[in-house]
Amino acid sequence: MSVSTTTASREQVLEEIVGAERFLLVTHEGPDGDAVGSLIAMRGALAELGKDVVMFLPASELPLPYEYAFLSLDGLVTELPGDLDERTLVFLDCGNLERNPIAGAESDGAHVLNIDHHHDNTRFGTVNHVDDAASCTAEIIWDIMGALGLRAQGDVADALYVGLVTDTGRFMYDNTGSRAHVMAAELIQAGVDTHDIYRHLYEGMPFAKLQLLARALDKAQCFDDGHLTLSWLSGADFAETGSVESYSEGVIDHLRAVEGTKVAALIRDRLGPGRGDERKVSLRATDDDVDVSRIARAQGGGGHRRAAGFTTRLGDAELVTFLRAAIARQLA
Ligand code: 5GP
Ligand code: MN
Repeated sequence: MSVSTTTASREQVLEEIVGAERFLLVTHEGPDGDAVGSLIAMRGALAELGKDVVMFLPASELPLPYEYAFLSLDGLVTELPGDLDERTLVFLDCGNLERNPIAGAESDGAHVLNIDHHHDNTRFGTVNHVDDAASCTAEIIWDIMGALGLRAQGDVADALYVGLVTDTGRFMYDNTGSRAHVMAAELIQAGVDTHDIYRHLYEGMPFAKLQLLARALDKAQCFDDGHLTLSWLSGADFAETGSVESYSEGVIDHLRAVEGTKVAALIRDRLGPGRGDERKVSLRATDDDVDVSRIARAQGGGGHRRAAGFTTRLGDAELVTFLRAAIARQLA
């Protein structure tokens, strides 16, 4: 996306925010740190402007993964409000409508602000502010807040920092530009206790999560001269270790770290009623030789060039064949 388009869409978003009174904020399914942080920060910013704002998460997403449990969910609703038609719907960190929790409700002339940093965002909103140069959606919100003359503090600053630190892989992924560090510096000046947040995010790991990681590491395999490093987590792995789905977060970073890896993949069974035959595939690329979002899109998913995913009903053998061929095609 060109800078000028982003500048224009940012002006439009600012106008929308100033002009409307009632908002409903949503994010993608299986909310991660950027999703939760963006919801909370945007809610705080709009409330400070005196707006009527609610955040929506389906009850099935609660409780949030333990990492984010310390964040305050004031203003959260788990049922859509009756005046939904009159609210501006703000989609945060949602690349497309398939992963949105209020499927259907956004159609029929709804007014949708789409604020996101996924380069493959399908621009489904009435106003689309998609900045793929932003490290995280929280960075876009921080930018919007600055333009509105709002200074992040307290819970809002914490929430923005959570989005930033998680989506940049603790400031190590290649999306970590100087702006990310400027944002961090400003948030620290505003009083964010980085060590406290770090402890909540990364050092409260349930033992079951460690055991789940051990299973994934035990089953890891390399293919094609190590270009693909892959592992699996079955429903039994989750059940026997006492893990919930979100405990698989972070496993893939270990796979990506293996020497020679171009693409790391984690294939895990989805849990819960009706999802028994669905599997979630997470993909990570180590450099620009392979764009994993292209591979994910070919299976109906999406994401970023170096971090993407999709849901599938393909079996093990088919999946491995598909991934190996898709990687080989891009490396050729
Ligand atoms: P993860 O592997 O951590 O679940 O997801 C990594 C990234 O891939 C996410 O930030 C998101 O951008 C993208 N992603 C994961 N799963 C899906 C999916 O099913 N559909 C789409 N469009 N994107 C996904
Ligand atoms: Mn994000």
